[in-house]
Amino acid sequence: MKSIATLGSHCALQLLKGAKDEKLETILICEQKRETLYRRFNFIDHIIIVNSFKDIFKKKYVDMLKRKDAILIPHGTLISQLTPDEIESIDIPIFGNKWILRWESDRIKKEQLLREADIQTPKKISSPKDIRTLSIVKKDGAAGGAGYFLASNKNEYEQKLANLINHKMISTNDKLYIQEYSLGVLVYLQYFYSPVKHELEFLGIDKRHESNIDGISRIPAKNQSEIDNQLTFNVIGNSPMVLRESLLGEVYSMGERFVSASKKLVDPGIIGPFCIEGVYDSNGNFTAFEFSARIVAGTNMYIDGSPYSSLLYNEKMSMGKRIAKEIHDNMVNDNFQKIIS
Ligand code: ATP
Repeated sequence: MKSIATLGSHCALQLLKGAKDEKLETILICEQKRETLYRRFNFIDHIIIVNSFKDIFKKKYVDMLKRKDAILIPHGTLISQLTPDEIESIDIPIFGNKWILRWESDRIKKEQLLREADIQTPKKISSPKDIRTLSIVKKDGAAGGAGYFLASNKNEYEQKLANLINHKMISTNDKLYIQEYSLGVLVYLQYFYSPVKHELEFLGIDKRHESNIDGISRIPAKNQSEIDNQLTFNVIGNSPMVLRESLLGEVYSMGERFVSASKKLVDPGIIGPFCIEGVYDSNGNFTAFEFSARIVAGTNMYIDGSPYSSLLYNEKMSMGKRIAKEIHDNMVNDNFQKIIS
């Protein structure tokens, strides 16, 4: 019997609950500081305490995981704590295509994949002197938008950059990336692709609550400028959302195009969960500023299923459970190699 292992953070609870519901053994790799939290949940069979998540490379822990026939489920914490080289070298099976995780961390590759999928992205601005309209400046590798800022022209760019360097939120060595700000409704589209069934499922949508860009809209415009220099996009939580039904057709075709593009560029293509993240403008046109090539934490609120998963399944289907089901249904047949890397 296989077991499911994941790092204690991000969406570990949802993943391991789903695995237990699918009758798989569950393992949490946990830092000491979070042990008390995770001991509260009886669907976690084993907790491996590590000093730091990087310890999962140590032979002792790899051997433990191998003895349990574990499959590691990657999530946002794995991506933010380990480099792509480190992730690719982990000596236990990873659910999904581990090579595509590198494409998520690299802005050039990310854009290439979205372009290949014919998904519109915000216009890239190559130099601060070319900023003519409201633009967002992104620090490379920023998790959750820390150190991002907005500027409408070169002067504003330089003034805000100097301020953030002063506050040590950006260093002079940081690589900065500028793109046009897309105005509209932000959505995070959650998909699952089964390479066994060759089928794409659209399982949910979330909205993110980001501090303090969300908070700024609650105060009068004259006061907004006072805190303009301390804008952040740090995700604090998520809430559910449904789309106008007339937009769903394009949501599916965008997902299908993403799957085809990933097969072309990163063999064997996307496996399992992914998320396309972007903005609908006033005409209902979508622009994607980001994708995640693994489960996103916005799926956490759908432990009992979402409005969209309920249309596909007559049981409560979370993303975590969907992953576990793919593993459970294929762990003793030839298709197993198609779902891991
Ligand atoms: P995470 O790792 O949490 O996904 P990240 O560091 O990869 O974050 P992005 O997802 O690119 O950063 O952006 C963080 C937030 O900044 C988004 O959720 C969104 O609110 C805002 N944002 C990013 N790009 C744009 C854009 N072009 N137009 C409007 N808002 C944007």
